[in-house]
Amino acid sequence: MIFRQFFDSETFTYTYLIASAQGREGILIDPVKTKGELYQTMIEQLQLKLVAAIDTHVHADHITALDDLNQATGCKTIMGEHSKAEFLSLRVKDEEELNFDGLKLKAIYTPGHTDDSYCFLLNDLLFTGDTLLIRGTGRTDFQNGDAYAQYNSIKNKLFKLDDSTTVYPGHDYNGLTSSTILEEKKYNPRLQVKSADEYAQLMANLNLPRPKHMDIAVPANLVCGRV
Ligand code: FE
Repeated sequence: MIFRQFFDSETFTYTYLIASAQGREGILIDPVKTKGELYQTMIEQLQLKLVAAIDTHVHADHITALDDLNQATGCKTIMGEHSKAEFLSLRVKDEEELNFDGLKLKAIYTPGHTDDSYCFLLNDLLFTGDTLLIRGTGRTDFQNGDAYAQYNSIKNKLFKLDDSTTVYPGHDYNGLTSSTILEEKKYNPRLQVKSADEYAQLMANLNLPRPKHMDIAVPANLVCGRV
């Protein structure tokens, strides 16, 4: 399998390129608009045919490359069925399995960071978007975020997966690139709480600044980055 992790140093965003092998169909998860050329070069060099670009949720911190990639390659643009974004080719449902050239990608609805957040499971690789970060979790204070829903998504959906499942998040701010479900159960400081109430209280007291580009990014992402 081909697997590449890209990092956007402006927004600390991770993007993932996956294909079964060189010369085959490829998919991108959470592509960033300003990195379009980089993805295209990599896709060309690996002789892939990009068939899908997927966003885990409507992002508030960067503009998505979904529409650009669709225009350039004809790939499908995919999000979960709760997304309010226009110009999507496909909206997936909770537990729905997508098949790309033999790669089976399972959608898992994980509301909390936003009400449209999905994670995607490919064998033992879990792409968590901003639902579960490495030693952290995505903020829940805008875009219909809900700490109780996030607690439930993490504890009752993601933490039910095998402990050895590798976690690939949508962002990292500390230089870490991947984790496992077991590590996050044991060491994620936000998940050592004893109840959803305790988690919600913790999330309510984070006092985070508004994302810098939110007023530009959210409207742009509601049209898949067609700006
Ligand atoms: Fe986000």
